[in-house]
Amino acid sequence: MKSTGKVTGIVSNLVTVETDGPVAQNEICYITLGETRLMAEVIKVNGKNAAVQVFESTRGLKNGCMVEFEDRMLEATLGPGLLSSSYDGLQNDLTTMTGVFLKRGEYTDPLNHEKLWDFTPIANTGDKVSAADWLGEVKEGWLPHKIMVPFSFKGEYTVKSIVPEGQYNIDHVIAVLTDENGEDVNVTMTQKWPVKVAIKNYREKPRPSRIMETGVRVIDTLNPIAEGGTGFIPGPFGCGKTVLQHAIAKQGDADVIVMAACGERANEVVEIFTEFPELIDPHTGRHLMERTTIICNTSNMPVAAREASVYTAMTICEYYRAMGLKVLLLADSTSRWAQALREMSNRMEELPGADAFPVDLSAIISNFYSRAGMVILNNGKTGSVTFIGTVSPAGGNLKEPVTESTKKAARCFYALEQNRADKKRYPAVNPIDSYSKYLEYPEIQEYLSEKITKGWVEMVEKAKNIIRKGKEANEQINILGDDGVPMSYHEVFWKSELIDFVILQQDAFDAIDALCPLERQKYMLELVLGICDREFTFDDFEKCRDFFKELINILRQMNYSEFLGENFNKYQEQLNNLLSNGK
Ligand code: ADP
Ligand code: MG
Repeated sequence: MKSTGKVTGIVSNLVTVETDGPVAQNEICYITLGETRLMAEVIKVNGKNAAVQVFESTRGLKNGCMVEFEDRMLEATLGPGLLSSSYDGLQNDLTTMTGVFLKRGEYTDPLNHEKLWDFTPIANTGDKVSAADWLGEVKEGWLPHKIMVPFSFKGEYTVKSIVPEGQYNIDHVIAVLTDENGEDVNVTMTQKWPVKVAIKNYREKPRPSRIMETGVRVIDTLNPIAEGGTGFIPGPFGCGKTVLQHAIAKQGDADVIVMAACGERANEVVEIFTEFPELIDPHTGRHLMERTTIICNTSNMPVAAREASVYTAMTICEYYRAMGLKVLLLADSTSRWAQALREMSNRMEELPGADAFPVDLSAIISNFYSRAGMVILNNGKTGSVTFIGTVSPAGGNLKEPVTESTKKAARCFYALEQNRADKKRYPAVNPIDSYSKYLEYPEIQEYLSEKITKGWVEMVEKAKNIIRKGKEANEQINILGDDGVPMSYHEVFWKSELIDFVILQQDAFDAIDALCPLERQKYMLELVLGICDREFTFDDFEKCRDFFKELINILRQMNYSEFLGENFNKYQEQLNNLLSNGK
């Protein structure tokens, strides 16, 4: 039974409704306003009164307007065609429109109902199946998109019939399943799922045990992220959060990418729309967009739509993970999502927590991050959702609630620093404060020593130590002056600069330097550490400086040259000459 109601109060997007029957928390409803219907979500129920959050502007709304409840939660529509699409938080298709923004009350269909897909059955008549089991497959771009038993199906079913190989649209009944009571149910290529509920149709969720290569040295070499892991990038405006995330999107070892552009400024979102379709996937040479879904909301869209977008994005990720794919979710920025939560909680007049964020902010963020992960599916295959979010703390203050709460939830921390960005030391990741907890996992350590080389983790630790010591030496030099410290201080400092310039810094806009495969990262780290192991004896600090500047120059040229190519080898030779003539 669907309930109805009448508007009795309005505060911005928060509307109170007197209902004539039961309504559920998070239930969706539509408010009739003249010719349009505004979509809203129930966020509080108290007796006959429900508080609903409208996903759009409530301009012109009056007391007495009719409300129809839908008896369902906010759902994502799942099926072939999600990739290469751009949606807002309510999954309105933004690619079919001329501008980026919809008119009020306008909702579009997320999937194309006419398009025919080449379907190949996987299950056979008579098979026993349950939720998330694979019934068949279509090719979405070049990815195998599994058609699954809908996630909401409970218990065991028998495949009564399945269509043969052929072309079908998403609404075509591709299989008929019989449930335990002998009732037949039709299955098409599309299904719906409530976005705020995690999809849990897998056998287990073990700890991540391998890393996801990103081609970015400060991540892979220094603080690798696990496949199915979580990380976050806090940093003040203009420090390179978006550039770093886009680099990871372009190069990360993932099958599917979901970009949640969450509440950024409208011009930044427009940038994504113009930039992403142009990007070429370095792994396949095809358009990156073919395996990407963009979910975007700008800060000028209503809060509830902003809040919904990250959940919609995560649900799409979980859907592809259930197909046994590696999915990468990037959210930029989760601070705007938290701000949306704050706006809503304040309007509800809830007791505020720190900085007026909801008291349960930490729990909301943790719950969201915990939806990421590597899973073992019921058929024994694995799938993963790796999640990296950016945080834009006001004034670069890393002690604010969103950063603090995210720090508890995410296992990798890539702190972007104003100071490094000002010096154009990109990516401006602070090498000392940043960390990856995955490096402490024995299974990850084992994986790294097998995949890269034995003793890799120790080598990385050594590099971090040199950076730390270099920083200390630099502080002493700044206090006591160039001549006031022993020569060894200069040497220690310049060795850390060598690691900084050659390993940490990476040009995201150079065709070669932007993408640094693991093999190459290993080569460069060994080379640089080999130099750091040498003890030099310089007559004065200027000679030391000049020598290291020349070293850095040559090694950077190597970074810009094709790995082990002609130029690379030429610089390697120059390097050897310099080192053998060096002090
Ligand atoms: P944020 O998202 O933190 O506000 P952006 O990602 O937009 O910042 O970066 C701001 C600018 O910094 C970029 O336009 C670019 O010029 C520069 N930048 C950031 N990262 C790099 C990089 N790895 N290589 C070169 N330039 C970079
Ligand atoms: Mg940005």
